[in-house]
Amino acid sequence: MRIELDRPRCEGHGLCEEAAPELMHLDDDGELIIDVPEVDGPDAAAAKAAVRVCPVAALRLAS
Ligand code: SF4
Repeated sequence: MRIELDRPRCEGHGLCEEAAPELMHLDDDGELIIDVPEVDGPDAAAAKAAVRVCPVAALRLAS
């Protein structure tokens, strides 16, 4: 699965980073960087948690 970010929606609060720190991080400017866009297995579970926790639904998983 692929993690997709709707960047204009993202407000940079970083809840997704807390849910999946191995997959994404906020850079020094508060921009979310998806470090591992293609996920599988345990990474997919973490990615789903990140999608769920985003308060503005800026993340989605595409197959
Ligand atoms: S939780 Fe949502 S709004 Fe916050 S940084 Fe992540 S993608 Fe952006």
